[in-house]
Amino acid sequence: MISAYIGLGSNLENPAGHIFKALQDIMHICNTQLESVSHTYRSIAVGPGEQPDYVNAACKIKTSLQPLELLDAIQSIENNHGRVRDIRWGARTLDLDLLLYGNLNINNERLIVPHPRANERDFVLRPLLDIDAGLLFPDGTTAQQLLDNAAENGLQVLTTKTALWDSLQTGNKE
Ligand code: AMP
Repeated sequence: MISAYIGLGSNLENPAGHIFKALQDIMHICNTQLESVSHTYRSIAVGPGEQPDYVNAACKIKTSLQPLELLDAIQSIENNHGRVRDIRWGARTLDLDLLLYGNLNINNERLIVPHPRANERDFVLRPLLDIDAGLLFPDGTTAQQLLDNAAENGLQVLTTKTALWDSLQTGNKE
């Protein structure tokens, strides 16, 4: 089993509900276990025009799926949440990114890991650090070093990781 990290973001139609449901969906990916979750955060949208605030989080999984199989699984979850791919960086019901897959560097037509924008965004790095304060990227840089250099997007904690984990175990979003 390989450890992998997935970033979650949503800014349409009850974003916190989409994040919670997406984590439940991730729990049901075959040959995969949910290991831990971050706090959920509200962040100010990056991208074109006026957009609602985002809700962001990350999770750590253990999986025996190959990277492209895992990408297929998270894309099918996005599609089930009604994600329509239209404007790049536009508003979305659910965005799932494969941030890290073990210690691998991957670069092919469909998949770039570490995710190309992971290392410059506080709404990705803060959740990763909630899960593992000593997290290293494959090039040996610490997630904390990257966060120290990232732009700030006004992050506010919405739900603590303990409360989120407990709700996922009971299946009841508080
Ligand atoms: P986006 O609209 O920003 O979610 O980008 C989705 C596209 O990015 C898809 O076509 C994916 O194949 C591609 N992609 C490349 N690397 C990754 C990654 N690490 N995680 C998720 N999607 C990725």
